[in-house]
Amino acid sequence: MKYTVQLGDTIAKVAYKFKVRPFDLLLFNPHIYSDQSYLSPGQDIHIPQITMEQSLNDNDVQLKTEFGQADLEKKIPDFKKQGIRVEIIGYSVMNKPLYALAIGSGKKEIFYSAGWHANEWHTSKFITQYIEELALYQQQGFSWHGYDIEKILREVTLYVVPLVNPDGVDLVLQGIYDEHPYSKEVLNINKGMTRFEHWSSNIRGVDLNHQWPAGWEIEAKESPQQPWSRHYSGKAPLTEPEAKAVYQFTKQHSFAYVFAFHSQGQVIYWGYRGMEPSESKGMVERLSLVSSYTPVHTADSDGGYKDWFIQETGRPGFTIEVGVGTNPLPIHAYGEIWSNNCLLALEGLVL
Ligand SMILES: [Zn+2]
Repeated sequence: MKYTVQLGDTIAKVAYKFKVRPFDLLLFNPHIYSDQSYLSPGQDIHIPQITMEQSLNDNDVQLKTEFGQADLEKKIPDFKKQGIRVEIIGYSVMNKPLYALAIGSGKKEIFYSAGWHANEWHTSKFITQYIEELALYQQQGFSWHGYDIEKILREVTLYVVPLVNPDGVDLVLQGIYDEHPYSKEVLNINKGMTRFEHWSSNIRGVDLNHQWPAGWEIEAKESPQQPWSRHYSGKAPLTEPEAKAVYQFTKQHSFAYVFAFHSQGQVIYWGYRGMEPSESKGMVERLSLVSSYTPVHTADSDGGYKDWFIQETGRPGFTIEVGVGTNPLPIHAYGEIWSNNCLLALEGLVL
């Protein structure tokens, strides 16, 4: 049987759709070299008639596949049913909507963001699954790991931007293909290489966490001077639509504190040039206790979102580096990320 690859497909997802193993797909499609090969939308692949329906269930597969913009968008109708509010806060360079989710009705506003860097899709998957679980516990009135979710969400409103950099994350998951509107620019920046595991920038080669007006000049001087797969700060702060959208969203709210999720390192950065308020230290110690991640005062860098937030508001900001290994972390890294960060994100609601 023949199948035409759709936008958002990966080997693991196609295998799941037809209840076959990735291994079987490779066997019947000799032109696909490995289970990490990119699939291009429009490409035809052969689906073998081997079924393993009995051995797969949705939960298993959800834990075992990647996460990009197509996956997020599939969930939107469910979000609404689950009582998660959805808002579009801007559009990426490739005109993909940037979504903000919200849950809770409390006065205290908290903000979690993820998917800043292209090769850090685990953070987006984590935070999306987390808010869905939160909604479930809220509806059912159960406590989750001892946290009374219904009560907490009457005191707190949690805002989540799960995927700040959809163009970049999709590039790492899918590569470029003929109809990709930025294929020429991306290949140029990538010196002709067609693999993108190392890519962390947005689609124009600007690092969205180097774009913030907090020591931007210092960071820009020490970073690549032109569009690059990582660390290029751009021509000025906040030139990129993704960074601008998060900037405006932050300005419109009065967040008590913010968490920005990245990978990797299993550490929590909590300071910026001594501008962080005194309560940050006690807060990071609590987050460390529940996650086993190590507090680190600063990354000795400037121009990041949490740096700007601390400088701008004088309130606490944290960068959480989930997982350990080389980005993109392997799919199986998700288990540790889920279990340690669930508790961290729960404790984050009551700091
Ligand atoms: Zn990152």
